[in-house]
Amino acid sequence: MNAGLNKLTIEDLSVQGRRTLVRVDFNVPQHEDGRVMDDRRIRGALPTIRYLIEHKAKTILVSHLGQPKGDAADRVRYTLRPVAERLSELLGIYVPLIPDCIGPQADAAIAQMQPGDVVLLENVRFHPGETANDPVFASSLAAIAELYVNDAFGTAHRAHASTEGVAHHLTSAAGFLMKKELEFLGRALDSPPDGFVAVLGGAKIKSKIGVVDNLLTKVSRLLIGGGMAYTFLQAQGKEIGQSLCDPGALEYCRNVLAVAGDRILLPSDVVIADRDPFSDNTDEVQSHIVSVDAIPHDWQGVDIGPETRARFAAVIADARIVVWNGPMGIFEISRYAEGTRAMAEALARSSALTVVGGGESAAAVEELGFADQISHVSTGGGAALEFLEGRPLPGVVALTDKPAT
Ligand code: ADP
Ligand code: MG
Repeated sequence: MNAGLNKLTIEDLSVQGRRTLVRVDFNVPQHEDGRVMDDRRIRGALPTIRYLIEHKAKTILVSHLGQPKGDAADRVRYTLRPVAERLSELLGIYVPLIPDCIGPQADAAIAQMQPGDVVLLENVRFHPGETANDPVFASSLAAIAELYVNDAFGTAHRAHASTEGVAHHLTSAAGFLMKKELEFLGRALDSPPDGFVAVLGGAKIKSKIGVVDNLLTKVSRLLIGGGMAYTFLQAQGKEIGQSLCDPGALEYCRNVLAVAGDRILLPSDVVIADRDPFSDNTDEVQSHIVSVDAIPHDWQGVDIGPETRARFAAVIADARIVVWNGPMGIFEISRYAEGTRAMAEALARSSALTVVGGGESAAAVEELGFADQISHVSTGGGAALEFLEGRPLPGVVALTDKPAT
């Protein structure tokens, strides 16, 4: 069952004239000077914000940005001011930044709001009660509003005060982005395994490897590339040189491979580099394509090779549903982006329902120009994976249930 469907959604609320607290995920990548580098997450929340403006709500946006420790320097570094500016541009109306999300300043600013107004509260993580999901902080946050909407899919796997705690105090509904994310991922999860292909890559092996078990109960094929592949290759007894590896997961990989048999596809050839490709002199880095049986001990795998790209693309071409998380190589360096490009191209060409999740994977698909040929590019990496692992998302669970019909 799709967890999103038995919850209230924004259209179930009567928002006119009411103070509506909206948890958005404006945790955007920034340039060193604070300017917003990628506004995908801000754009993702626009349908909900525009709906609330049109329906004359008083829209109070709340988000975190980064992981501030609470000192004065972090209050400058992690301010949402650049986000408020970008949001004002995108909406074409002025969105003031309220310097604190609770307390007298917030109360005063909110008291002056007119129906149709939008304000953004300053970084909610400036309060330690946010990540601690402190009940007192959650109820203070709830007290500024009459309704709650959660549109922060990317943070829905965290039980924090503004994503979970607050929902227990107010009538709470999913926003349009949340709903869309849950629908696409839910369709993938609920579908019969026949023709469901998952592609896993990237570098966050430790946090992602757990998804493999659960995916194997859902998919017909699991393609593993990127930094994820090498722990599996080593588990098969291969030399992987200096490639990324999680030694603690070798046993797990061995078991998974034994159970999955040929449903897991690993690279048969890879691109290797003779040193860390980000090291001092990038131009001097040597690289070759080799079979996975021929990785020298002092080299490291940085991309999937051409034979692997073709094998993976052929599986994707026959799929009905494809979920992809994690780049196939170090795509930030253009000569190691070919594997990632080949996957993006295969997804774009396919007539399957295609879903891409993960910060870097989504960025890669955008950068390579394939985003508009993908059914759904998710704004959530960790959240999408936890959902695919079959774990309930606390930010969704806490929303008000739809009344039984
Ligand atoms: P996502 O953000 O899509 O969830 P991750 O955060 O897990 O993905 O990993 C993204 C990173 O993985 C990219 O920065 C990419 O450079 C890196 N990566 C991919 N393949 C390899 C590899 N073979 N070796 C080292 N890093 C890799
Ligand atoms: Mg990432």
